[in-house]
Amino acid sequence: MAVIVFAESWEGKFKKITNEAVSYAHGLAEAEGTNVIAVAVGALESDPAELGKYGASEVVTVEGDAFASFNASVWATAIAEVAEAKGAKHIVLSGTNNGKMIGPMLSVKAGASYISNAIDIPSNFAPFTVRRNAFSNKGLVDYQTNAEKVVVSIVPNALGVKETGGSASVSSHSSSAAADSRVNVIDVDRVKGKIPLPEADLVVSAGRGMKAPENWTMIEELADVLGAGTACSKPVSDIGWRPHSEHVGQTGIQINPSLYIAVGISGAIQHLAGVSGSKTIVVINNDPEAPFFKAADYGIVGDAFEVVPKLTEALKSFKANQ
Ligand SMILES: Cc1cc2nc3c(=O)[nH]c(=O)nc-3n(C[C@H](O)[C@H](O)[C@H](O)COP(=O)(O)OP(=O)(O)OC[C@H]3O[C@@H](n4cnc5c(N)ncnc54)[C@H](O)[C@@H]3O)c2cc1C
Repeated sequence: MAVIVFAESWEGKFKKITNEAVSYAHGLAEAEGTNVIAVAVGALESDPAELGKYGASEVVTVEGDAFASFNASVWATAIAEVAEAKGAKHIVLSGTNNGKMIGPMLSVKAGASYISNAIDIPSNFAPFTVRRNAFSNKGLVDYQTNAEKVVVSIVPNALGVKETGGSASVSSHSSSAAADSRVNVIDVDRVKGKIPLPEADLVVSAGRGMKAPENWTMIEELADVLGAGTACSKPVSDIGWRPHSEHVGQTGIQINPSLYIAVGISGAIQHLAGVSGSKTIVVINNDPEAPFFKAADYGIVGDAFEVVPKLTEALKSFKANQ
């Protein structure tokens, strides 16, 4: 009755958050006295055995024509098949975009209860009890289910990666998933060269204080020098200055990076709801009374159009002297 974990990959390579999901599954399995089996769906370039480093004792690969493009229904079927074959009661996945699509379908196909956005290892297994954020990150709630089988998704970047140093055996599963598909992927439009926001460890974000979309060049330059992802406040994406995929907050993406730099953002409660899990928050705002300073670890009161280029230059020369 191993713990199953979905080992998500992008263009054949395991995502960084997969290591975190496997680490979480390992913690869960240890508490239950069982082992972790990772399921990697789709063509793989990464060595499956590498997941042993984070606690998987076995990696099951599922490949074939049906898995050439991401299709949540087909992928969920494949994972549910492996879970059934291994007699798993618990299935873990990361709350990425793909994870969010797979999770509910997987719970139906596996006949399991679904708890999303967990931020801790379950405190109890009967009933299965796990903690998640509530009320826009202002409170905590312990979710409970009496279901025998549970699919649990974790908040990306919230729990961290733990290396346990083991090795994983590798096997493959031949899936019947193709016949199950009611969704056809007609086209895939890939964003190239960008760091996916929910997984970014460093994020540079900006708001209406930037005045116009053309001024985002300096935000992108700062993000480039740091190797960071870019984000924005809601009004900015509503006006069309930035894509909605960058909108963070209560109604946008929730992120948990190590560093969040907020430029020209007031710090409204709905914005903070999506970024308050950041480990370090740096705020750049010309209004010393901006509410965001109350949530900041470091604050710079100043005009973004002066501060940001200077910060970028300073970081460039720091990197050049490394
Ligand atoms: C139901 C609901 C859900 C919402 N969900 C979200 C959400 O998910 N995410 C979100 O972001 N918002 C959300 N909002 C909107 C939120 O309430 C705020 O309106 C929004 O976050 C403000 O965006 P902003 O800080 O970019 O703009 P503003 O409030 O206009 O603030 C701009 C800031 O830039 C500063 N500034 C101006 N010029 C400069 C300069 N030259 N240099 C430095 N600083 C400068 C100003 O001092 C100000 O603090 C939601 C609102 C509602 C009602």
